[in-house]
Amino acid sequence: MNDCIFCKIVRNEIPNVTVYEDDVVKAFLDITQVTPGHTLLVPKVHIPDIFAYDTELAAAVFERLPKIARAIKASDPAIKGMNILNNNGKVAYQSVFHSHIHLIPRYSDQDDFG
Ligand code: ADP
Repeated sequence: MNDCIFCKIVRNEIPNVTVYEDDVVKAFLDITQVTPGHTLLVPKVHIPDIFAYDTELAAAVFERLPKIARAIKASDPAIKGMNILNNNGKVAYQSVFHSHIHLIPRYSDQDDFG
């Protein structure tokens, strides 16, 4: 999709901080960091939401999720946990309609974070 912001990030047409990339997925820092290290994992192919996945793509994306979560956690010993979230549909607070999974690190002292 030419006008999709995450497709543009996949193609490196707009600035992004890439955390992980292979032939199927890209993971990059969310522009609005809920906590430091807040990352989005997207399939490279344009899929609007969870309802549009086929089994093969779902398996490929979710197979990579623990590996990326572990790498983020290993990047900072202060990370003690992680929220993994996926919004689907406007009524579910999805604002970018290229499917993505939020990985939000949680810290031992996170009183400042929502
Ligand atoms: P919400 O905005 O309610 O979190 P989503 O689950 O659709 O809805 O999340 C979209 C995410 O995309 C937001 O966290 C937003 O900060 C992020 N985002 C939007 N534009 C960019 C961008 N150019 N680079 C990185 N992240 C972006």
